[in-house]
Amino acid sequence: MSSSHSTGGRLDLIVVGAGFSGMYMLHQAKCSGLSVKCFEAGSDVGGTWYWNRYPGARVDIESLEYSYSFSEELQQEWNWTERYAGQPELLKYSQHVADRFNLREDISFDTRIVSAIFDEETLCWVVRTNRNETFTTQFCVFATGLLSAPIEPNFDGLTEFKGEQYLTSRWPHDEVDFSGKRVGIIGTGSSGIQAIPRIAQTAEHLTVFQRTPAYTVPLRNCSSQTKLHQEVKNNYAALRSAEANSFAGFTLVNSQVEPVPTQSALEVPPDERLREYETRWQSGGLCFYYTYTDILTSESANETLGEFIRSKTRERIRDPEVAEKLVPTDYHILTRRLSADTDYCETYNRENVTLVDLREKPIDGFYENGISVGGQMIDLDVIIFATGFDVMTGAMDRIDIRGRGNQSLKKRWETGHTSYLGMMTEGFPNLLWMNGPGSPFYNPLLQAEYQGQWISRLISTLKTNGKKCIEPLLESEAAWVKLNDDIGAMTLFPKSNNYYMGDNIPGKPRRILFYFGGFPSYREQCESAAVDYSGFRVFGGV
Ligand code: NAP
Repeated sequence: MSSSHSTGGRLDLIVVGAGFSGMYMLHQAKCSGLSVKCFEAGSDVGGTWYWNRYPGARVDIESLEYSYSFSEELQQEWNWTERYAGQPELLKYSQHVADRFNLREDISFDTRIVSAIFDEETLCWVVRTNRNETFTTQFCVFATGLLSAPIEPNFDGLTEFKGEQYLTSRWPHDEVDFSGKRVGIIGTGSSGIQAIPRIAQTAEHLTVFQRTPAYTVPLRNCSSQTKLHQEVKNNYAALRSAEANSFAGFTLVNSQVEPVPTQSALEVPPDERLREYETRWQSGGLCFYYTYTDILTSESANETLGEFIRSKTRERIRDPEVAEKLVPTDYHILTRRLSADTDYCETYNRENVTLVDLREKPIDGFYENGISVGGQMIDLDVIIFATGFDVMTGAMDRIDIRGRGNQSLKKRWETGHTSYLGMMTEGFPNLLWMNGPGSPFYNPLLQAEYQGQWISRLISTLKTNGKKCIEPLLESEAAWVKLNDDIGAMTLFPKSNNYYMGDNIPGKPRRILFYFGGFPSYREQCESAAVDYSGFRVFGGV
């Protein structure tokens, strides 16, 4: 018999995950006086920044923006040392927040939630950990991350390989020494693109195995610009307000807050458009998302940017044959996440770096001493997998979550994820999630703050009204899913193969995972839903 240990008392709230979303939810719940407990699989806070310790890991939204806004004191006292913080600094920031707001006392580390089952008699969730403890809670918030469930490598013969193996998203805490080693890396998404230039600096030889080339732009990281930092700090509210009114929650271009785009790419003269792209190229980072109103909806508008970036990529690489392999030609720019790099393309100008195009020569298999591609053996001492994640749904799918009628969430989502407002789904009362399926494509920290506040309000409204349970009506959810699908269909995302549509996971239903209507319209709908909660079924209690 299993020796399950129960806590006895019922909690108001369990938060799963102590990354940026979970930490904020926990803070909110504590401020609201709820009895709350948070569980974290890692040994510390930080989520993404706890796990992804690979060389070169760094944020690609400016740190002034990729940071909490909820505490003016925190904003004022924290000083970023770089324009885009590296993983160690982001982890330190998470730790600082955890300490400053006394979050650790309510977090159980090294504890993974394995199941959450709704008990229809008590109208509570029974949550079980990998330590075989059970906890009972009225509300459950999954802050399990959108890019946190790694795709485990599954290649023929992988167990034969005798060298070292690493997954970028499960990187060891001790430094990995590549000197004198022949290293191979599979995957050229944002993780691979950050790791490749750094590993090339110390490895004897680096072989990059590329299946799909990425559109990538220079990040232009630099040490913290004190003047800009001071200016922002003098009026942080102005920056936060611009972010809140922007599509995706990052707004700085050349240190200036960029206004919301108003023009089509096709209605500006080509030389003016080129100047605009060049300004953004020089600014660095992800600011291309905002260039023109139709950049993600019109193939012709999108192509103007695609061609600009392709020509820039060609200029960065000396060998024209290698350059052509690195230039994406068969999908629209921004329909796969834009990467922002530091010397990525230039790394292929190094003597000790080789690009293997898996579209020309696929992997035949893994062997004791390396990888065979197109019948040719490549000897390796180390293989790194930067092969991505089961995006948005993966982390929750890996937990046995059962709602009313013992229905499984994973089973429900087998035919396509469902949600209302990207936070809840019908049949799973009092179960919510943050930065998960159906949530907007938006700065994740600011989104965590908005969703955390929205969830707190929902809980307190329910309590004030003496009610126990809330879940979306089927028709509210159906309308939200349709809205997401309709917006998705207006964009170019369905026209390419990308993780936004679930394409990187074999068998995952093709449905756009993010709300692409922009944050302001998302917030408007969430606010309107919270006026009287008429889109929900409220039950239990008086
Ligand atoms: P990703 O973008 O999904 O890239 C995975 C890469 O692995 C792709 O190049 C993919 O090729 C390749 N791959 C997967 N399975 C393969 C196989 N069986 N054989 C050969 N190649 C294979 O994952 P990621 O790079 O970890 O990035 C995920 C997201 O995390 C990013 O889009 C971004 O949102 C976030 N991120 C951000 C930063 C940052 O700068 N702040 C850094 C890292 C990650 P195919 O495309 O052909 O499938």
